[in-house]
Amino acid sequence: MADSVSIKINKDLRPAYYDDFHCLAADCRFSCCKAWRIAFDKKDYLSLKRQKGTEDLNNRLEQGVRRLRDKESNYYGELDMSGGDCPLLREDGLCALQIEKDHAALPQVCRAFPRAMAYLPEYLERSLSPACEGVLELLWNLPDGVEFRSNPLPKKERGTLTVSGERPLVPFFQPIREWCIDILQDRRLPLPQRILLIGLALRELAEGEMDIPAWLTRARALPEAEELPGLPREDNALAMFLTSNLRTLNLLETTGVDYADKSGFQWIAMIRLPDFVTRENFAWAVSEAERKKKLDCSSAEFLTVEEGLCVQIMHLGPYDSEPETVAQMDAYLAEQGYENDLSETRRHHEIYLSDPRRAAPEKWKTVIRHPIKKR
Ligand code: SF4
Repeated sequence: MADSVSIKINKDLRPAYYDDFHCLAADCRFSCCKAWRIAFDKKDYLSLKRQKGTEDLNNRLEQGVRRLRDKESNYYGELDMSGGDCPLLREDGLCALQIEKDHAALPQVCRAFPRAMAYLPEYLERSLSPACEGVLELLWNLPDGVEFRSNPLPKKERGTLTVSGERPLVPFFQPIREWCIDILQDRRLPLPQRILLIGLALRELAEGEMDIPAWLTRARALPEAEELPGLPREDNALAMFLTSNLRTLNLLETTGVDYADKSGFQWIAMIRLPDFVTRENFAWAVSEAERKKKLDCSSAEFLTVEEGLCVQIMHLGPYDSEPETVAQMDAYLAEQGYENDLSETRRHHEIYLSDPRRAAPEKWKTVIRHPIKKR
């Protein structure tokens, strides 16, 4: 039997907005009483079957609460959601059981949602699921980010967490979580890339990587790494592709460009492909898009770009204000003894890090890259 350590848990940790949650009830547009499975244990099943009220409530319970006979299942009963909504949900958006009885009459899953809790090495963590519209409203309205609160636990909620060789990840829960938060907050990488890196790295743990200190060392070096250590080459290439940004190559004069008038621009829109995509794969994708989606992809091209020596700068703001940023880059070039080398084959390159449909123009981030040569 593996050695085990018991940790007493006698305080909680929760986001401050946890205390402000209340169900939107009839005002909720995406009610949790619709379109998902509501299943429960024997105690809840029997409690529901014992409830008596008006004829309407009795009918709803009679027809809507059913027994599960699957021996493999952890559940004993469920609400019949075949009509899409919970059979206890009234036309006015309120729960017939809660209205006639009270909150305590609901099955545990309905009493708890969207609240969740987990006993962790230092505390009982309480959280609220963002699958709930009421929670999203609270999050949306947070003026200054998330604050946390902690209180001693009432006796009935105190618990003991057992850490044993059978649960080797438990002692590392906090450092692993802190690493995830650090990555999420690392704005040097685009958000999709941060999320993907976390998923790929955590997959190693899910697949059985047990040298956690070594994993943490590798994971902490990740934002600077070219590739995710230990990850198959295809996955790294895929990560790069899934998170790559739209970019354009523009044929521009070195000076006197009117960025506000884009009608005369000659540009190529591009997206970076993983190394394992061949010309044959590309030709197949083009023909499939034409055949299935009826898209004219005749101008799509498998292009290899060798940019050579370049200088680049991060431009913050609308595209029309790029000239000021380009002027700064030009001044830097001149100081260093270089000059622009723009031509038909060496082009002004823009990489769009922001989605102009979602972000305000003053927040748009665009990498501007120019080919250069020694003066
Ligand atoms: S999703 Fe949230 S706010 Fe909406 S009914 Fe359920 S608990 Fe209430």
